[in-house]
Amino acid sequence: MRPSVLDRLFSATTELSGIGPKISKLIENIAGPNILDLMWHLPTGIVDRTYSPLICNAENGKIATVVVQIEKHIAGPKNRRLPYKIICSDDSGTMTLVYFNARRDYLERVFPLGEIRVVSGTLEKYDGKLQISHPDIIGRIDKLDNIKAILPIYPLTRGLSQNVIATGIKAGLNQIPKLDEWLDHDLIQRERWPSWDEAIKRAHNPKNTDDLNPNSGARQRLAYDQILANQLAIALVRKQLVKRKGKAILDRKNLYEKLHKNLPFALTRSQTAAVSDIHRDLTSNNRMHRLLQGDVGSGKTVVAVLGLAPMIEAGMQVAFLAPTEILARQHFTNIKTILKGTDISITIYTGQDKGPDRKVKIQEISNGKGQIVIGTHTIFQEGVAFKNLGMAIIDEQHRFGVHQRLSFVEKGRSVDLLVMTATPIPRTLHLTVYGDMDISQITEKPKGRMPIDTRVMSVDRLDEVFNAIGRALENGSKIFWICPLIEDSEKIDLAAAKKRFQILQKRFGNSVGLIHGKMNNSDKIKTMDSFTTSITNILVSTTVIEVGIDVPSADIIVIEHAERFGLAQLHQLRGRVGRGKRKSSCLLVYSKPITDNARQRLNIMRKTQDGFVIAEEDLRIRGSGDLLGTRQSGLPNFKLVDYSEHKKLLSIAKDDVKLVLNSDPDLKTKRGQNLRTLLYVFEKDLGVNLLKKS
Ligand code: ADP
Ligand code: MG
Repeated sequence: MRPSVLDRLFSATTELSGIGPKISKLIENIAGPNILDLMWHLPTGIVDRTYSPLICNAENGKIATVVVQIEKHIAGPKNRRLPYKIICSDDSGTMTLVYFNARRDYLERVFPLGEIRVVSGTLEKYDGKLQISHPDIIGRIDKLDNIKAILPIYPLTRGLSQNVIATGIKAGLNQIPKLDEWLDHDLIQRERWPSWDEAIKRAHNPKNTDDLNPNSGARQRLAYDQILANQLAIALVRKQLVKRKGKAILDRKNLYEKLHKNLPFALTRSQTAAVSDIHRDLTSNNRMHRLLQGDVGSGKTVVAVLGLAPMIEAGMQVAFLAPTEILARQHFTNIKTILKGTDISITIYTGQDKGPDRKVKIQEISNGKGQIVIGTHTIFQEGVAFKNLGMAIIDEQHRFGVHQRLSFVEKGRSVDLLVMTATPIPRTLHLTVYGDMDISQITEKPKGRMPIDTRVMSVDRLDEVFNAIGRALENGSKIFWICPLIEDSEKIDLAAAKKRFQILQKRFGNSVGLIHGKMNNSDKIKTMDSFTTSITNILVSTTVIEVGIDVPSADIIVIEHAERFGLAQLHQLRGRVGRGKRKSSCLLVYSKPITDNARQRLNIMRKTQDGFVIAEEDLRIRGSGDLLGTRQSGLPNFKLVDYSEHKKLLSIAKDDVKLVLNSDPDLKTKRGQNLRTLLYVFEKDLGVNLLKKS
C-alpha cells in the first residue's frame, strides 16, 4: 500500500486553501486532479518585480512594485470608453492607476480611499504623467515582500490567473513532505542535486532564467526521479515475465514454407531476419516478448503471418489485435489472402459482432475452431476464453500503451507476445518506451518502391491543387485528402472536413467520399470499401486514417493545415501512399501564420522519407513541453522529462536500475524501501505489487 506520508499529495487540489471546485477543474485541465500533479506543473518563465522605486524616481517602461496611498477615484463618464482612474501617491509624488471597462464596485472594494496598497505592473507615461494600467498584482502592505520578488510564470488556461495558480502552488509546496533519499548517495554528490522536496521547491522558485533550464540541478533531479521510477517499474515487470516460463514448440516449417511460396513478392532481407527471430523465440523455452519495428509500409503484416505459422502448426491459437475496427478488417482480408490454399481457419471478432453472430464467434474461439483470431482489444476485455492461446500479436502498439500490454502479462497466460509498431523511436529512448523487449527491425522498404514526391505549398494556391487533382483523377489516381485538427474539438474539425467534402464534391461529383471519427463503424467500413474498390477516388478524411490503413492503389495524399501536425503524424500520414506501382505524391498545404518550428518540420518532410531521420530531427527541433509532438510520437508524456535535454539521464538510470536489482532484487534494503516510495510517487504501484507477490 502507498505510504500514508504521500496521502496528502494524492488528494484533490480542492484540499488546498484558496482552491475551490471551479479553479480545481481548471487546474485539472492543465496539470491533473491532485496536489502532486499541480506540483509537477513547473513555471516556464519569470517576472522580476523587485524594482521598487519612489514615484519620483520611477522609470517609464519598467515593471515596478510601488507602495501607494489611495487618494481619489475618478470614474469615467457613462461613455465607457474613457478609463476609470485611481489617483494615488507616496511621499515623493503622485501617479495614476488606469482601468478600462472597469467594474466600479470592484475597484472601490480593492482600493479603499486613504488606505495603503502595494501595486505591481508596468510603468507607463501618459500626458507626461506616470501610470500603471491594469496592475498585475494588488496587495496589502503586509504582502510587500511576497510581491516584491522574482515570481514564476506558469502555463495557464482561460479563467486561471498567475495569481491564483501561484496561490495553489504555494499551498501545495507546504504539503511536500521530507522523504528518505531514494537516489544513490554518490550520484547525488557527483551531480550536486538537491533532495526531492528541495528540488520541487527550487523548481517553483526560480531566481533567474538559468533556474528554468532543464539542466538546472532541481529540474534534472526531478526528471531523473521520473525516469528512474519508470525504468524500475519496467524492469520489475520484465523480471516477472522472465520468471514465467514459456513453452517451446516444435520447430516445424511446413506451413511457413507453404505460405512463403504463396507470396507474390520476395521478402526483403530484414523481413526474412525478423521471421527467423520470431521462429527462434517460439521454439525456445523462453517466452517471447518481442517488438517488431518497421517504418510505415515496410511490410510488418506479412512478417507476423509467416512468424506465427509454427504456432498454428503446433496446434495452438494466435490472437491478432488491431487498434481499430477498420484495421482489424483490413488484416482479416490481407491475412486471408496470404493463407489461400491452406485449411487454416481465421475468425474476426470485434465490437461489431452482436447477437447470434457474436455467440458463434465466441464459440469458435473457445472450441479452437478459430485458429487465427483477429479483433480489437474487446477480445481480451470481455474475457473471451480461448481454447489454447499460444501467441498474441499486437499491431501499432502505442495505441495500446505499456499498461495494457502489462495487463496481458497479468492475465497470467503464458502467451508469446509480438508487438508491432511503425513508430520510429530513437535508440536512446527504446528502454523508456518499450522496456527491454527484444527488438527486430525492418530497415528497408520492399523493392520497387518509388520515393514519394513531397511538396510544400501555401493554401493561397489551393486552386492549383484542385486543378492538379482534376488532372490526376483523369489519369486514374486515387487520393487521400486529410483535413486537420483545428481545435481540441472534434465538432469543429468535423465541420471543416464536411465543408471540404462539399467543395470537392461540387467539383468532382460522386467520386468523393468522406470518413471521420464520429461515423459508426459499419459506415466507416462501407466508406473504406468504396474507396478501395474505386467507387470513390477521393477520400476526405479527418486523421482517422492515420494508423495502418493499406490501400496500395492510393497515390496522392493532400494534407491541409500541415503546419499543425507533428512530424511523427505527418510521416504516418504520408506513409499511406507510395505503396503501389505508381509514383506517389504528397502535398503539404499550410496556412499562415506559420511558426519557424512548423516551417522546419515541413522542410524535413520535404527532404527525407526515412522515419528514423525524421524521429531524430523531431527530437532535435522540438521544444520542451511540446505535448503535441510528444503525444504523436508515441513517447510517454513524462511531465518532468525533456527528451532532447535529458538523454544522459536515461542511460544513467539504466545502469542504476541494473545495479539495484542485482544487489537488492526485492527492494528490501533501506534504499530499496525508499525506491518503493519513489514508485508510489510516480504511480507505478503495479511495479510494487509485483514485488509483493515475489
Ligand atoms: P506496415 O509495415 O506499414 O504494416 P504492411 O504490412 O501494411 O505495412 O505492408 C504494406 C504493403 O506492402 C502491403 O500491401 C504488402 O502486401 C506489401 N509488401 C510487404 N512486403 C513486401 C515485399 N517484400 N515486397 C513487396 N511488397 C510487400
Ligand atoms: Mg501495419
